[in-house]
Amino acid sequence: MDINSLNSKVVLQENVSLKIYNTFGIDVTTKYFIEVKSLDELQSVLKFSVDNSLSILIVGGGSNILLTKNFEGLVILNSLKGKTVVEQNHEQVKVKTASGEGWHDFVIWSLDNNWSGVENLSLIPGSVGAGPMQNIGAYGVELKDVFLELEAVEIMTGRVCTFTKEECHFGYRESIFKNVAKNKYFITSVTFLLNKSDELKTSYGAIKTELDKMNIIHPNSRDVSNAVIAIRQSKLPNPKVLGNAGSFFKNPEIPMENFNKLKAEFPDVIAFTGANGGMKLAAGWLIEQCGWKGKLVGHTGSHKDQALVLVNYGGATGKEIHELALAIRESVKTKFGVDIELEVNIY
Ligand code: FAD
Ligand code: NAP
Repeated sequence: MDINSLNSKVVLQENVSLKIYNTFGIDVTTKYFIEVKSLDELQSVLKFSVDNSLSILIVGGGSNILLTKNFEGLVILNSLKGKTVVEQNHEQVKVKTASGEGWHDFVIWSLDNNWSGVENLSLIPGSVGAGPMQNIGAYGVELKDVFLELEAVEIMTGRVCTFTKEECHFGYRESIFKNVAKNKYFITSVTFLLNKSDELKTSYGAIKTELDKMNIIHPNSRDVSNAVIAIRQSKLPNPKVLGNAGSFFKNPEIPMENFNKLKAEFPDVIAFTGANGGMKLAAGWLIEQCGWKGKLVGHTGSHKDQALVLVNYGGATGKEIHELALAIRESVKTKFGVDIELEVNIY
């Protein structure tokens, strides 16, 4: 392996623990580890990985991965930084953000500039660059709603490519980067279109309730952000305190006729109109009904306040958490006949 071919600014480390690089806090190692801070560094590192046939794992905030074993390739930690206004008029602003920027920092920066569009996505952990991976979403807003385009480096060739919204094939917690383009691109920047006036989305009941609690009758985007932050802090375990990767499963959408049968058998089922003409079931409710909520299984379990979130109570292995996830999925299938898909990326 010729490490002299690497950009002189990058440092190749060997046998590095990944414990601080994943929010589950799983203590596995990677054979090689490099942090990249510029496009030049990245292109040199990608070429190095191809020349040496190293499989790579791109890590941003590590808040949507479950590491089940030591990684035998090269982990690339994304530290590409920078935010630029590309264009603006009286109504809108186009902002290009490097993929290694923190997502929540980007949201707060937008609010500080009085731009709206991402306030409902406040406090989602992780990097900007991982956002398009699963079209991050919360409280009725998805990344695709403010997305214009992204730039990515093709791993095999080092070529910089642009993906439009259509080319990203965004869906519910889905994109081309989780499917056919998986492991083929390193997203380097994302360009968003934000509004200069507030166009708020407060259709999720919890936001309205929280705004009422805050005595706010005419909210602005900062108020909505504060409401979302307050709800999230009251409901979700902080990964710095209790290892987790947010919702472990996606909410499944089922055809209307299947839903009608399910509703006849389980009248309390929680469901909302889906994006594809069916009904979206609250996976948390399905899991809770199977008796998993708050249950401890070894060093892991489903969280007491939010059944969708699997947690590491200390010392859990990725394999243990993965096995729990599969057992939960199996029991939901047995009780309700519904498949729940894992949202977290398993390695
Ligand atoms: P990582 O975990 O580092 O990576 C995730 C995947 O993307 C990996 O496969 C990785 O290889 C790949 N990847 C990362 N960066 C790049 C890149 N630049 N180019 C190509 N591939 C890349 N998600 C939501 O959608 N909505 C929520 O409301 C939400 N709430 C959460 C709350 C908590 C407490 C936690 C812990 C997680 C939550 N998540 C939520 C999940 C997670 O925060 C998001 O999916 C986030 O976008 C992951 O970012 P990351 O940088 O940590 O990604
Ligand atoms: P919640 O408010 O307890 O609601 C349970 C589920 O019902 C949510 O998953 C949500 O689906 C759905 N829902 C609620 N109100 C809805 C409405 N008015 N219209 C359509 N669907 C509705 O959910 P929560 O777990 O506390 O999460 C709140 C929000 O944060 C959700 O949007 C959730 O996706 C997001 N979140 C995501 C993660 C993650 O890791 N992916 C982690 C924490 C929170 P949706 O999930 O489709 O919105």
